[in-house]
Amino acid sequence: MTGQKKFKLTIELIPATAWFSSLYRIYKNSNQLSKWRRIKKELFEREGRRCWICGRENVRLEAHEFWEYDDEKHIMRLVAIHHLCDMCHKIKHIGFWCYTVDGRKLMEKAGLTREDLINHFCKVNKCTREEFEKHEEEAFKIWRERSKYKWKIDLGKYDPNKKEN
Ligand SMILES: [Zn+2]
Ligand SMILES: [Zn+2]
Repeated sequence: MTGQKKFKLTIELIPATAWFSSLYRIYKNSNQLSKWRRIKKELFEREGRRCWICGRENVRLEAHEFWEYDDEKHIMRLVAIHHLCDMCHKIKHIGFWCYTVDGRKLMEKAGLTREDLINHFCKVNKCTREEFEKHEEEAFKIWRERSKYKWKIDLGKYDPNKKEN
């Protein structure tokens, strides 16, 4: 890893070769959305109605999937799910929101700009804009590298084929 400071809120880009492997999609495509709803309900009970990263309350919360990447074996493992506010969540997936046509249109519709996201990032991480730029650049570098490979998906304890206990 680089000598960058550890941020509370980071950009985590899903490799382009694994874009459609979210747990939500997997549940949706296999008619198991009730399981997704249960995960959300459990999160509310365990973590309250606030953003897991910045702590904002009284905002719409979106469940975000946290993945770990094995860059040697090319396995990505789902390690956690937490509720994030829309600003923290948009930063996680900034590649979509700021660098695709669809994302930009939706941002515009929501009255948001890339500047708003940067301001949120800097506020949450108590960092400078320069540090944001560096972090973003690094995130895209990792993303380009990871997007060269096909990833094996490990859903860990969230695997829908796993027996329930
Ligand atoms: Zn937040
Ligand atoms: Zn997400």
